[in-house]
Amino acid sequence: MSQEVETRLRGPEAFGLARTAIEEMERHRIWPTAINFELWINYLAAPESALGKEITRILKSGQAFTESVSEELAALYLPKARLNDQIRDAGDQLSRELASVSAAISSAKQSSEAYGQTLASASQSLSSGKDVASLEATVKTLATATQRVQLENQTLEKRLSESSNEVTRLREHLEQVRREATTDGLTNLANRKSFDEELARACQEADSRGHGICLALIDIDHFKGFNDTWGHQTGDQVIRYVASVIGRLGATPRLAARYGGEEFALIFPAEAMATARAALEEIREEIASRVLKRRSTNEDLGKITVSAGLAERAPGESAHSVMERADAALYASKRGGRNRVSLAAPIANAA
Ligand code: GH3
Ligand code: MG
Ligand code: MG
Repeated sequence: MSQEVETRLRGPEAFGLARTAIEEMERHRIWPTAINFELWINYLAAPESALGKEITRILKSGQAFTESVSEELAALYLPKARLNDQIRDAGDQLSRELASVSAAISSAKQSSEAYGQTLASASQSLSSGKDVASLEATVKTLATATQRVQLENQTLEKRLSESSNEVTRLREHLEQVRREATTDGLTNLANRKSFDEELARACQEADSRGHGICLALIDIDHFKGFNDTWGHQTGDQVIRYVASVIGRLGATPRLAARYGGEEFALIFPAEAMATARAALEEIREEIASRVLKRRSTNEDLGKITVSAGLAERAPGESAHSVMERADAALYASKRGGRNRVSLAAPIANAA
């Protein structure tokens, strides 16, 4: 949440803003779930922000504000503060853990130093050849000191093994937070944020190693009509189904992501134009051949199709440019009658 929004939420306008958010949500028939409320507060407080613009665009397009749309917006625009909190918490726990281990180690070090001193003075009193009683006393002192050090070592060992378990747990927690931040909740594919990051990385790598990459966009055909007929929940199931086909079939892409509502994006590794095209055809055919059934009622939902666009990145071409070309190819598939894969025209000279 931006500083500005944060300030307005604690300022004199806060209740007004909250009321307006509720009213606006009602006006647009948006359920006042916690996530939607947070989105709308941010939207109304800063309509010109990236989130504000995206919500304006969605409202204008008439696209339904489904749960998965909200989640996607939240994942793209809201979670940073929330995730940062979680990451900070895990970091704090880790620091506390390390501090306590280092305290345990220094206490063990102190007692082993003390033990060293006890040994030194015992050796002195032994060599000074005293009577049996004082020898006995020295041995007793040694035995006690040895026991103490043994105990201390056991405690330290136990503490270290606990700590290593705790560090493993924290690492797993961080890994889970990271996974959630990069995964689309509905489909379990990568989300747009991780796609954008991965694409930037793939472009850099391609340039430094001198190989190509291919980019594909897949969009469900006439999906608005499908939603209107069968409802958004069934629509969401179809998005999951398409995602599962994308995840299951074809050459393994470097990354498959849910890029937007009913749109998917794939990055294929080097020299894969023909393979990528074959994979897209395989996905397209599999989807087009299947008669969908509603799981709960076994009702026949008919068939759906997808269109795809595929672009091969030219050396030095920006991520933005190759995305645009893939999008143009997708548009060509739509215009050409849908249920097809189109290749982007190569560009002669990249920027
Ligand atoms: P086209 O063949 O040109 O792609 O037609 P379309 O109707 O699929 O295209 P358009 O982009 O106009 O509409 C996309 C629709 O997808 C709008 C919305 O109803 C639906 N949609 C987008 N995201 C979701 C989602 O997360 N869940 C569901 N159920 N529907 C969604
Ligand atoms: Mg579509
Ligand atoms: Mg679309």
